[in-house]
Parts: sequence; structure tokens; C-alpha cells
Amino acid sequence: MVDMDTLVSLCKRRGFVFQSSEIYGGLGSSWDYGPLGVELRRNIRNLWWRDVVHLRRDVVGLEAAILMHPRVWQASGHVERFTDPMVDCRACKRRFRADHVDAQPWTHYCPAKKENKFEVPAGEPCKHCGARRTLCPECGKGELTEPRQFNLMLKTFLGPVEDEAAVTYLRPETAQGMFVNFENVLQATRRKLPFGIAQVGRSFRNEITPGNFIFRTREFEQMELEFFVNPQDTVEGQPADEYWHESWIQERFAWYQRYGIRAENIRLREHGKDELAHYAKRCVDVEYQFAIGWSELEGIANRTDYDLRRHAEVSGKTLTYFDEERKVHVVPYVIEPAAGVDRSLLAFLTDAYHAEEVRGEKRVVLRFHPELAPVKIAVLPLLKKRDEIVARAWAIRDELARRWVTVYDDTAAIGRLYRRQDEVGTPYCVTVDVQTVGDPAKGEAGDGRVTVRDRDSMEQIRVPIERLAPVFERLLGGGPWSAVAADYPRQSSA
Ligand code: ATP
Repeated sequence: MVDMDTLVSLCKRRGFVFQSSEIYGGLGSSWDYGPLGVELRRNIRNLWWRDVVHLRRDVVGLEAAILMHPRVWQASGHVERFTDPMVDCRACKRRFRADHVDAQPWTHYCPAKKENKFEVPAGEPCKHCGARRTLCPECGKGELTEPRQFNLMLKTFLGPVEDEAAVTYLRPETAQGMFVNFENVLQATRRKLPFGIAQVGRSFRNEITPGNFIFRTREFEQMELEFFVNPQDTVEGQPADEYWHESWIQERFAWYQRYGIRAENIRLREHGKDELAHYAKRCVDVEYQFAIGWSELEGIANRTDYDLRRHAEVSGKTLTYFDEERKVHVVPYVIEPAAGVDRSLLAFLTDAYHAEEVRGEKRVVLRFHPELAPVKIAVLPLLKKRDEIVARAWAIRDELARRWVTVYDDTAAIGRLYRRQDEVGTPYCVTVDVQTVGDPAKGEAGDGRVTVRDRDSMEQIRVPIERLAPVFERLLGGGPWSAVAADYPRQSSA
């Protein structure tokens, strides 16, 4: 598997991700998405939106404000409970999440042993003296304090006066926007249960130990669905909430694999009873094998009726659904698949990365699913000194760009241009050469054909320019290269 340093460096070099405010020395754990990163993010968001909202009959969208009434966060429990236990190092003053410190192996000088220096495995006490780690994992010298609870919400003040009355928070999740708008959406759309409200947007958490590139940051983007079900219903003999929970777990697990995550790198993890949030009936994480180890990519929780009940209590409004059949008002249960755009991007990037040897040279290729690839087609002139070639290449790029993200590049020799496109995951290259345009000096007419090259197999075919759009429609619509290539003459590969 590719290590994090290699990914970070590729991301910077090729314009996926830059450190925020780099010319000022950078802001810790804050990242900017460059020209390719922005396209990749957009593709992730759009695929999620298409599959979770547009293709379904039972989900609608919402875009709530990031700043919400402060009482939202009292009702949701975030003011009181959205905390992580933190410990401080008394020597170097660094701060850590207590559970993260516990999850690392540590070097222990055991008073109960003669040969006393050894490594204690992650999550365990010393098997000789029973001690848990007490020293700082960074400097190794300072004692760690007892864990204290630290609220993760980023506080801010609204208006010109910075006093307690003006305090509010940057939202730590998008979910509450859906709960407080439940009644509005119900009224506006006349939906019947079950139905979902989906939202994609920024969230903020004052993480104690952000890091690992874009895996954990203080500002990030979430893709969340709140799927409301009638707890009195049964589906296929199961309580409706349990049926829909399982159904969304399977759907979301399949989603990542549909867009290229390999089965061996993704798994489901059931939360233990001690780990469940106080309101949750069941929670399952989709985990990915990141370079830092297996970690959460998405959480899918059965939140019961906790959220709507709490908002009804605190706001004094009725947040129920009228069950026409039973003639009763019910408080819907909520199934919540909550994913992160940034973590998904990191997973898709990690999974796509391949380094291989081709004719004695290293080739780095991002094997993105075509729908995720930031650039779909690159149009390359074989000779940039021939005006007709350049003009034809630009014309092709402009035409294809109306349908697909298409770039033009003439800044190197063709072999290098191909490698550069491989390295950013562009599925197809189109090359315009002398044969395409002909040579008027020699009285030779062009054949009006261009070379289309496939990223993964590196095979090439000759395609008439006017056939490019239908060819890419097939290829980028999911048609296999081998089937499309069979219709056109092959060209020796480059
Ligand atoms: P963790 O245990 O890693 O802190 P969480 O369980 O608190 O995550 P959720 O509240 O379930 O996370 O948020 C849903 C999703 O939002 C996560 O699966 C992740 O993809 C994303 N996410 C949460 N916190 C961050 C963060 N600090 N940086 C980037 N993405 C995040």
C-alpha cells in the first residue's frame, strides 16, 4: 500500500491538495484543494448526490446554514456531550486524545522486571506491573495529566458584542439542519414515511489531535442522509427501523466498491454496546484500510426518535408524523448514513494509486473509476510546432469539453505527457499527429483520425475525429475498453 508521504507529495506536486496558507508557514491540519482536487471532490459529492438523492424515489435534498440557533446545540446534546477526553503533557504541553494515546504501543521501563525496557502493545497495560502509559507519546519525558473532557465545537460570536449572549457555534455536523427542517420538508413535499433528507456541506470540529493529512481536520465536508421511518411499521417481518438500517449499511458498503474501492480494503465494523452513542440503537462503521490502518470512512447509525423528540421538547413545536392508517401521531426513527468527502477522497486516492514498471521505467498511475477521475480526456498534439496539429487539437479539446472535463497539454514530449496523465488518473488521451492533418508541403491529405489511448492497458486505437464523441460516450458511460477498441484499428502502444 502507498504510504502517506508519497500521497501527500503527489497531491502537492500535481495540484490535488496544498497546505493551507503555505506562504505564511501553513496552518496546521488545514488543507486547500487545487485544480485536480476540486474536480475529484466535486465528482465524489455528485456521485453521492446522484445515488442517494436523484436516483431514489424517497430522498430529497436540503442546504441548511452553517450557523444555527445556539439552542439547536443544546437540544442536540452537543453543548453538554460533544466532548472527547484529552490529556496534556506536563513537559512539552502537547495535547492528545486519551483514547488515541491508549491506541499506540509504548516503551515502558518496568519497575517489576530486571531487563526492564520493552514495548507494550497498543491498548494494553504492562503485563508485569499493570501500569498504563503515563508518559507523553511525543517527547517521551513528560507525565500525562488525568483525562479531562474537552468540547469539540468551535465557538464564535454573532454580532458586534462578544459576550455570552452572542455565543454560537460552527456546526459540528450537518444532521441538525435536517432535523430542524423536518416539518418544513414534510409540509412542502407531502412525503409519506419512509423518506430521507440529504445534505452535503462543511462541518467544523475543534479536534484535539487533527492530522494524518486530510483524514482528520478541523474543517471538513460531510455527506449526510437522515432517513425517517415509521417505528410502528414492519418490513419483511422486521421492525422498519432495523430493516432500513441494514439496507442502508449494505447500500453504502456497496457504494464505495462500485466506484473502485477494492473489497479487501473495506469492511464493516459493528459498534460495541460500550461505544454506542447514548441515543443510538445500533451503529455500524464502514472502515477503510488507510495508510494509518483501518479507520472510519462512514458511520451508519440508528438514532431512534432521539433527535426529533429533543427538538420538540426544546423548541416547544410538534415534530411528528400523522400515520393515516393507524390514525396516530408518531415520532419517526432516524437512520443516518454519515460520510466525509475528504476521507472518501483520501480512500479513493489511496486505492487508485499503483506504481508499476513499464519497459524498465516506473509508471505511477491512479486507476480512478472514470466517474471519479478529475480529468476524463487529455488532448495532446504530437508536434507543437505544427500549427495545423495544434489548432486541430485545441478544436477537439473545445468540442469534448462541452461534455466531459477535457484538457489540452503540449508542455512535453508525448511519452512524458502520457505519464503525467497516468499520474493524475486521466482515463483517456487523444493524440493528434501528422497523419491526422496531413502534410500540404508534400501534397498529403490527412486521414482525419486520432489516436485514443487507454490509461489502464496503455493500448491505442485510431478513431475518426467525428466518432470521438460516441466513443467517449460508450467508454465514459461504463463500456469496457476491449469492446469499444474491437471496433477500431489498433495502433502499437506508447
Ligand atoms: P472519528 O471517530 O474519526 O472522530 P466520528 O465518529 O466522530 O469520527 P461522525 O460524527 O460519525 O465521525 O462523522 C461522520 C463522518 O464525517 C466520518 O465518518 C468522517 O468521514 C467525517 N469526519 C468526521 N470528523 C472528521 C474530521 N475531523 N475530519 C475529516 N472528516 C471527518
